[in-house]
Amino acid sequence: MTAIVVPDGSEFGINNLPYGIFSVPGSEKAVGVRVGDAVVDLSKSLGDSVFAQPTLNAFMARGRAWWIEARARIVELIETDAVPADAMHPLDTVSLHLPFEVADYVDFYASEHHATNLGRLFRPDSEPLLPNWKHLPVGYHGRAGTIVVSGTDITRPRGQRKAPDRPTPDFGPSLRLDIEAEMGFVVGVPSETPIGTDDFENHVFGVCIVNDWSARDIQAWEYVPLGPNLGKSFATSISPWVVPLLALEEARIATPEQVPEPLPYLRESRSWALDIELTVEWNGHEVSRPPYRTMYWSPAQMLAHCTVNGASARTGDMFASGTISGPDKNQRGAFIELTWGGKEPVTLGDQTRTFLEDGDTVAISASAPGPSGTRIGFGTVTGRITPSP
Ligand code: MN
Repeated sequence: MTAIVVPDGSEFGINNLPYGIFSVPGSEKAVGVRVGDAVVDLSKSLGDSVFAQPTLNAFMARGRAWWIEARARIVELIETDAVPADAMHPLDTVSLHLPFEVADYVDFYASEHHATNLGRLFRPDSEPLLPNWKHLPVGYHGRAGTIVVSGTDITRPRGQRKAPDRPTPDFGPSLRLDIEAEMGFVVGVPSETPIGTDDFENHVFGVCIVNDWSARDIQAWEYVPLGPNLGKSFATSISPWVVPLLALEEARIATPEQVPEPLPYLRESRSWALDIELTVEWNGHEVSRPPYRTMYWSPAQMLAHCTVNGASARTGDMFASGTISGPDKNQRGAFIELTWGGKEPVTLGDQTRTFLEDGDTVAISASAPGPSGTRIGFGTVTGRITPSP
């Protein structure tokens, strides 16, 4: 048996306990939980085959009562120093993998500040918010098969690009490669029927950080009238740790006032808006602090909307929030907003940037309030741009 010491001020204390998939040399992938700077192998410490799996899906599918029980057993193991010695690994000795097998992926557009900024940039001659925006959480279906774990290199995509002053497109590597800082919500318990807002916590297992890489030149040409496609589908990065919804009780807040009042299926008796703070670093320089608390639509409203038409939800479905942007310039979660379409470069040490260059690295981190003044960390999602082949 071994004792785990959580460093003072750690965002990965006993109130967090995020789950991931890890491996060490010579062994199979397994479910691990992060405690401080250690990873506890749950397949060796809780004795249940659901943890001896290469994804979190089987565990997530078991449902909320079991999530609560597993969490209580993990807390007990740690508090009684009862983690088996061969189940504890220093974080820097493990490889972290994609934490769940992604079923379907929907990306929303739930930040009023982001939607307004993008409206101004993409459609300068019309109202920035389209008439549907305050009546439903607008979203599109993304490509689940290209969701990758943090640390995976991102190859610059190629495609059709049309310059505003040219009548026809040309083809080549994206010249306006961007990020979108978002949070992603992972479905554990499937459903064949609509999931009401008050049933959110019985279906959604946890939350991760998402970087929805976006090729703005490809997107701007292709997106009318059916929405983003190849400008987004080449890669989406997620953080390796899924923070359970059970760790986010202290982070629950109300959404901003919603006017007009949403239709009944989108109303919440107690909102699942969340007070999450994100940080965006570009080549190691902080460029933005997007505040999740400013999002107009809550994740429970997004899931209710996703399923209200009768569409089923599956274990491993991920729906992402859309770019998180606050009202201030240094709270914008995409570079197209931060540099206002490339007109206002940002300074990174002795360099300037408008969009991503080959070799650039972006790291997005997030944390939320926990009990007694603690913080609940989501970790970081990173990615480096490699040249188009
Ligand atoms: Mn997005």
